[in-house]
Amino acid sequence: MAHDCIFCRIVAGEIPAQVVHDDDRALVFRDVNPQAPTHLLVIPKRHVASADHLTREDEGLAGHLLLAAGEAARSLGLAGDGYRIVTNIGRNGGQTVSHLHLHVLGGRSLGWPPG
Ligand code: 5GP
Ligand code: ZN
Repeated sequence: MAHDCIFCRIVAGEIPAQVVHDDDRALVFRDVNPQAPTHLLVIPKRHVASADHLTREDEGLAGHLLLAAGEAARSLGLAGDGYRIVTNIGRNGGQTVSHLHLHVLGGRSLGWPPG
């Protein structure tokens, strides 16, 4: 685990988080600075820097994260009105934490295209 990585520290329990789902490979918790009424982050427990760092060997993990995002959204009642799953990659993508995370945003109508 990367001790300088804030999300690895959340996985390790060193930084508190409002966890909504926890399994062997993934953690889902509320974003500390929510951009929508419901704003979740879905992360792999293993440190992966971004979606661009996934490899074919991570195919199962990638699917697991996407399914965990949908399950969390459904369990929190977002599915009926719809919601968004998005992952930012690198500088142009607006990624600020270098540990892969899917944002799950819901509870309001979301604009498109993003800024
Ligand atoms: P990014 O900008 O990399 O796509 O998203 C990083 C997200 O992590 C941001 O939405 C930010 O609010 C969230 N975040 C940063 N630090 C923490 C933290 O310590 N706890 C939680 N729950 N969210 C965090
Ligand atoms: Zn990490």
